[in-house]
Amino acid sequence: MTDLARTARIDVLVEGYARMPHVAGTVSLVRDADRVVVVDPGMVADRELILGPLRALGVAPEDVTDVVVSHHHLDHTVNIALFPVVPVHDFRSVIEGDRLTLRPADGFALSPGIRLLATPGHTPQDVTTLVGTPEDVVALTHLWWTAEGPADDPFAPDRALLQQQRERVLGLATLVVPGHGAPFRPGVGTPR
Ligand SMILES: [Zn+2]
Ligand SMILES: [Zn+2]
Repeated sequence: MTDLARTARIDVLVEGYARMPHVAGTVSLVRDADRVVVVDPGMVADRELILGPLRALGVAPEDVTDVVVSHHHLDHTVNIALFPVVPVHDFRSVIEGDRLTLRPADGFALSPGIRLLATPGHTPQDVTTLVGTPEDVVALTHLWWTAEGPADDPFAPDRALLQQQRERVLGLATLVVPGHGAPFRPGVGTPR
C-alpha cells in the first residue's frame, strides 16, 4: 500500500462500546481531498452524539460526500440516513439513491489517502477502511471490537480467515480504530 497518500485527516466522532444491552458502534469522519466520509454511522444512544461532534468540526450533514459501512450489522449502519443521499460503500457495491453499482471493495480508492480493503473475518462481508494521515496509516475495521480483541470473535464463521485478515491489516496499519473501542497501536499483545 505504498501508493496510499498521507494526506487524510481522521476524527473519531463516537468511540464505540459493547456493554450489553448497551451497544454503540465507533463512528468516524475521514476527510481527504474533496471527500468527506463518514464510516459506520451506526448505533448510538442519541443521534446528537454523532451530529454534535460533526458540527464541532465545522461539518454539516450536507457536507458529507460518502458513507462506508464496515459490514452489515445494524450497530454500524442504522444511522446512514442522517446524511443526504450520497454514495454508500460496502464490500461488493456502491449504492446511491436507487442506483446499484457492483464492484469489489478490495483496493477501491475513495481518494488518494483513503483505500478500502475486503477483510472477511468478523463477517464474510467485512471492509477495512485504510486511511493515510501524515502521522499514521490508520485501519478502521471490525476485525477487532476493542484493543483486547476478542481473541476469538464469537461471530466469525472462519477463525483462520479472521486471523489471516488481522495479520494482513497489522502489516499495513500503525493505528487501529476498532468497532467498539478506543483507537489503539498494535503490539505484541494484539490478538491475531
Ligand atoms: Zn458486527
Ligand atoms: Zn459491531
